[in-house]
Amino acid sequence: MSDALGFALLSAAGNLLGAAAVARRATAGLRAIEQLVAFGAGFMLSVALVEVLPEAFARSGTAAPALVLAGYLAVHLTQHTLTPHFHFGEETHAVPRVAGTSALVGLLLHTFFDGVAIASGFLVRPELGLLLFCAILLHKLPEGVTIASLMLAAGRPPRQGTLAAGALGIATVAGVLCTDRVAFLLTHGLALSGGVTLYVAASNLVPEFQGKRGWRLPLAFFAGAGAFYLTRDLLHRMV
Ligand SMILES: [Zn+2]
Ligand SMILES: [Zn+2]
Repeated sequence: MSDALGFALLSAAGNLLGAAAVARRATAGLRAIEQLVAFGAGFMLSVALVEVLPEAFARSGTAAPALVLAGYLAVHLTQHTLTPHFHFGEETHAVPRVAGTSALVGLLLHTFFDGVAIASGFLVRPELGLLLFCAILLHKLPEGVTIASLMLAAGRPPRQGTLAAGALGIATVAGVLCTDRVAFLLTHGLALSGGVTLYVAASNLVPEFQGKRGWRLPLAFFAGAGAFYLTRDLLHRMV
């Protein structure tokens, strides 16, 4: 658990870094975020499909498919059904004032399960915990950019964007702490967070670049999947 907690804190720092890039209007950094979203999507999708799903089925047995589906549907409900406007990446147009708050509430569930995923991964074996940490860290920066820029676009001061990003980080740390204390999450956290991770990769991150022309972003996406196999191989030799 101490390992998982440390890595959750590191990934939470990614949220704040993303918010800082928005507050400082670091244009070059924000452009690089687009690339990071594509790379992170490839990495995260690979971890979810290749590593998390088989382990989730081993831990949760016949309940696993329904739990994965429940995790997937829960993100759609909180991020895209109950919220007037939300998508990943920098918000570049004006949005209604309520969109900032409702997106934050929606993202809190997802970021809580970012923490459940890290903790559940470490419960299975350190390698899986580290792979999930990498996948989650890669999208934490864009996540911070998303909420901070959305707050600005909703007409709120930059300070509120930073606070919102901090809240997302705290939810991730809370996810780790709850996984250790709630028996249901201890057993089924991996299956539930597997559905959440699948949603974030395939339905939050991929739509952010799939409509854009050119080779730059698809290459980053495929490279993310390749980097997953390289990282797994590397961890296999080290851990
Ligand atoms: Zn928008
Ligand atoms: Zn997340």
